[in-house]
Amino acid sequence: MTFKNIYRNNPFVLSFELFPPKTDKGMDKLIENVRQLLNFDPHFITCTYGAGGSTRDKTLDTLEQVQALTDIPVASHLTCVNAIVDGLKSYLERAAAQGIENIVAIRGDAPEGEDQFQTTDGGLSYGEDLVKVIRSEYPNVGIAVGGYPETHPEAESPEADLQHLKEKVESGADVIITQLFYNNDDFLRFRERCSSVGIDVPIVPGLLPVTNFKQVKRITSLCGAELPKDFLNALENSGDDTEAQFNIGVEQATHQAADLIAHGVPGIHFYVLNKSRATSEVLRALDLPSA
Ligand code: FAD
Repeated sequence: MTFKNIYRNNPFVLSFELFPPKTDKGMDKLIENVRQLLNFDPHFITCTYGAGGSTRDKTLDTLEQVQALTDIPVASHLTCVNAIVDGLKSYLERAAAQGIENIVAIRGDAPEGEDQFQTTDGGLSYGEDLVKVIRSEYPNVGIAVGGYPETHPEAESPEADLQHLKEKVESGADVIITQLFYNNDDFLRFRERCSSVGIDVPIVPGLLPVTNFKQVKRITSLCGAELPKDFLNALENSGDDTEAQFNIGVEQATHQAADLIAHGVPGIHFYVLNKSRATSEVLRALDLPSA
């Protein structure tokens, strides 16, 4: 089933995002965690492509493993980094042959060691260009794109960023999945601004429960998301108590998710980082809307 039908047919869509593990042991662990997460009846599962310098070769392999466990739809992320259009087309062909009906179309970031994203000769410059290629090759495929409640860090301005998002949607995206964020007001303002410029596809919050202090620096440096001061203080005050940090993170994510649900979001996309425990605890504590 494609994104359009998934969001049309379900009042609340639960989805999880994985990344391709580097080793066989990592893959075994991932499968074990996916088994746990399947207990929550997600509507689809996605796998990133080259995110944070991870390998790109294993995205389809990872999804194949997930497909062996479940019939729920899966989606491959795809980026423009170091890619020529023919290479992107052949990836789409392989994904289609594997029964993958949904793509998360993303520009990607500069590879490690480089400052800025560079367009490859014969390649694409923006998420929008990738949406256009996918739409022209596969008119019926489901396409999700990224949205930025705190504005994309490289954007000329919040207004320009919003305009480019609108262009991505008009080029054929079915749904917007947001970058992770921790202040719901940022998301709610973003949703309002999208609506004010006529963006009318589902806007799905992406949530990443932070369960230890070490993650904080990584998250802020990777995507610039701001964490609430009270939450940071609570994590810091817990010293080396990793279990206390975990519980604080789960509590924060549960409050955040419950508030988003109360504001009528069409679903939540959990960045599970190949682990199941934190997201499972959040989901157990929530009263998810049902059909
Ligand atoms: P784009 O929509 O291309 O925008 C990038 C910047 O260019 C923005 O500042 C925008 O305002 C500007 N812009 C857009 N169009 C134009 C235009 N026509 N003219 C001028 N400026 C323009 N990274 C990975 O490496 N692998 C993944 O699998 C991955 N998955 C992700 C999934 C989600 C849901 C999200 C939110 C992010 C993901 N990322 C992934 C991170 C992503 O690569 C970065 O956030 C990246 O910097 C932006 O990608 P994009 O497609 O959203 O950007």
